[in-house]
Amino acid sequence: LIPAIKVKNLSFYYSKSKAIEGISMDIYQNQVTAIIGPSGCGKSTFIKTLNRISELEGSVKVEGSVEFLGQNIYNSRINLNQLRRQIGMVFQKPNPFSMSIYENVAYGMRISRRRSPTELDEIVESALKDAALWDEVKDKLNKSALGLSGGQQQRLCIARALAVKPKILLMDEPCSALDPIATMKVEELIHSLRSQLTIAIVTHNMQQATRVSDFTAFFSTDESRIGQMVEFGTTEQ
Ligand code: ADP
Ligand code: ADP
Repeated sequence: LIPAIKVKNLSFYYSKSKAIEGISMDIYQNQVTAIIGPSGCGKSTFIKTLNRISELEGSVKVEGSVEFLGQNIYNSRINLNQLRRQIGMVFQKPNPFSMSIYENVAYGMRISRRRSPTELDEIVESALKDAALWDEVKDKLNKSALGLSGGQQQRLCIARALAVKPKILLMDEPCSALDPIATMKVEELIHSLRSQLTIAIVTHNMQQATRVSDFTAFFSTDESRIGQMVEFGTTEQ
């Protein structure tokens, strides 16, 4: 097991209130790590500290460190755009852009670098295949993404994240807005994707953590220890 990210004594505050406290853990390469705990315990804040999008919420304070590729990402000299390409994210509510299916997936490649049309086509096809969506959309790539079902939209968001070839994919309750069938498809996908990248997933659902993860980090259910991680280990099957 090789750590992809090493979190050391990390605390995070929104203006004056503390959301997470003293978190230390490794997120291992090519493994799925589930972050589990009750609502409000800091799960979402925590995974968003791993690519520094928590701080987009406003005035915040961060203590401790997050090491990725041998560097503390809270070092002021880090390139945030590059970091966020390497550590992609999928949110709770599917949030495709109001563009075609094709353009949604190509979006990140267009802003990062110039590509030939053929290269873009290949990247889009391969990301949609990786997200197990290709067969469902290959005949309507130029149709609006907003016409897809919720489950398809979420797999499209996963394809959009995968297209830029991240090393790590963060997922914040990616199934909680989906029906059971769509949830099952996304869970299967998560399981298969770990052969190509590292995944950290927030869930409040213990059964889901059991189904998809290799490691589980439990955040405290105790009011007096809010925002603390209380247990970390291999997921009990
Ligand atoms: P979870 O994902 O476990 O439900 P969150 O990380 O969303 O927990 O929230 C942790 C704590 O931080 C909660 O008390 C929540 O109200 C607070 N919080 C989350 N986002 C913000 C924000 N943008 N500004 C202030 N407080 C926030
Ligand atoms: P999620 O867990 O997906 O972020 P929430 O409903 O907890 O969903 O939060 C929705 C949005 O509101 C998020 O951007 C979150 O950071 C923000 N938020 C949550 N709690 C607070 C809070 N106490 N004050 C301000 N913003 C908050």
